[in-house]
Amino acid sequence: MDGEEDSLRLRGVIDRVDVTSDGMVRVIDYKTAGKWAFTKKAVADGKKLQLPLDALAARDALGLGEPAEGFYWRVQQAERSGFTLSGFDGGPRGAIEVALDKAWEAVRGARAGHFVPRPPQGGCPSYCPAVAFCWRYQPPYSG
Ligand code: SF4
Repeated sequence: MDGEEDSLRLRGVIDRVDVTSDGMVRVIDYKTAGKWAFTKKAVADGKKLQLPLDALAARDALGLGEPAEGFYWRVQQAERSGFTLSGFDGGPRGAIEVALDKAWEAVRGARAGHFVPRPPQGGCPSYCPAVAFCWRYQPPYSG
C-alpha cells in the first residue's frame, strides 16, 4: 500500500468475495467468536479494520473491481454486523481510506517506538502470546 513516498505491506486471507454478473464486489469476513463489536464506530476508531483492508486488497491486489458492499458475519448467530461498507461515511471508499490512515498511524507509531501494550475492549484474548508476562494484562470480561 502506498502512502506518500513510503509503503507498507500487509499479508492475509480474505474469507469471501462475491462478484455479481454485473461486476458488483462484496467482501465478507466470518467471525466465530468474541464480543459482537463490529460497529461503524469500531471501524472509525481503527479497532476493526480487517474488512476495509480486505476490500482494499480485493480491489487493488486482486483487481476484482470497486467494492460496493461488505460486512462481518457472525457465524453462530447467522447475523450481519452493524458495520457495512456501504453504510460507512463515504461508503466503501471512505472505509478504505480510514483503514489506510489507521494502518499508517500504527506503522508510524511503531517506527517511533510506541509499543506500550493496550488491553483491548473486553479484556485480553487468551491467544495473545504476551498473556503470561504482560504488565497491562486484563482478564476477559465474561458478561
Ligand atoms: S496481554 Fe498485553 S499485549 Fe496481550 S492483549 Fe493484553 S495488553 Fe495487549
